[in-house]
Amino acid sequence: MAGNEKETKKITIEDLAGVGEATAEKLRENGYDDIMTLAVASPKDLSEVSGIAEGAAIKIINAARKAADVGNFETGEEILARRKDVRKLTTGSKNLDDLLGGGLETQSITEFFGEFGSGKTQIMHQLAVNVTMPFEKGGLEAETMIIDTENTFRPERIVQMARAKGVDPDETLKRIHVARAYNSHHQILLAEKAADLAKEFNIKLVVVDSLTSHFRSEYMGRGSLAERQQLLNRHMHDLLKFSTIYNAIIAVTNQVSARPDVFFGDPTTPIGGNIVGHTATFRIYLRKSKAGKRIARLIDSPYLPEGETVIQLSEDGISDGT
Ligand code: ADP
Ligand code: MG
Repeated sequence: MAGNEKETKKITIEDLAGVGEATAEKLRENGYDDIMTLAVASPKDLSEVSGIAEGAAIKIINAARKAADVGNFETGEEILARRKDVRKLTTGSKNLDDLLGGGLETQSITEFFGEFGSGKTQIMHQLAVNVTMPFEKGGLEAETMIIDTENTFRPERIVQMARAKGVDPDETLKRIHVARAYNSHHQILLAEKAADLAKEFNIKLVVVDSLTSHFRSEYMGRGSLAERQQLLNRHMHDLLKFSTIYNAIIAVTNQVSARPDVFFGDPTTPIGGNIVGHTATFRIYLRKSKAGKRIARLIDSPYLPEGETVIQLSEDGISDGT
């Protein structure tokens, strides 16, 4: 992955057939400033934002794909090679790390869902602290981008958690880049901008807290459900794309809605239905327990067994509590 990134950076967008100076300028203005971004763009989006005809956009995308060597079938061997770059980030709880097979993974989306107060935002804060830590301590020596939709990011919490980990609170805060998303469109836009931030900083964690709250409040009623799902789908795929290109972790939170029609099993279900469920690689369901304890349950993993464990929330952050 790292090697691949470097190779594609050698050629600039002007090197592509069909991209003259004026077109290159238009593309750059709209964030399509490297081969990889163009290679994974959709012709419709490219044409809409840059004013280039769709036919021309298709040609440019194809040229970029050829140059970046994407869009072809990968052999199992190649996928395994890419998977070898996967890195893991500690949650701060050995129990939860073990449940996840060693921690949160790069190149994938991990979703934490649960009711209000179940600890989703606390975990997001902890991950942002942990990602700055050295590799040998389960960190990635990297930075975080947080899309905050509920205005729940608290630097004071970061300071507490950083102190508990014995890392410099100010240095930690400098490595967390927070953007408040005011509505779902703004949220989608911010996710698209993640690539810009990643060019300047070593972003290995993107947090969206919460993934679904704006979508849920803006798209009420059956009529708008299809549109909501379509936008959520696009948003999730933007995030997934970022995680693959930049070998980064995506961590998102999601609420549950009470389902009075479900009488058996757990009477709660995550928002966003199939779209979120199918795109998130790991889903963790958080439930409240006694004295700051939370039960975390792994649901729907592609290769890990389902199971649950107990974590502890405290002033120091997330731990096993033992
Ligand atoms: P969610 O995002 O799922 O709605 P939060 O992550 O905000 O929930 O979790 C809130 C809970 O986190 C509180 O109920 C409390 O148990 C715990 N918590 C938050 N801040 C602290 C702190 N400074 N010290 C101890 N526990 C805290
Ligand atoms: Mg929260």
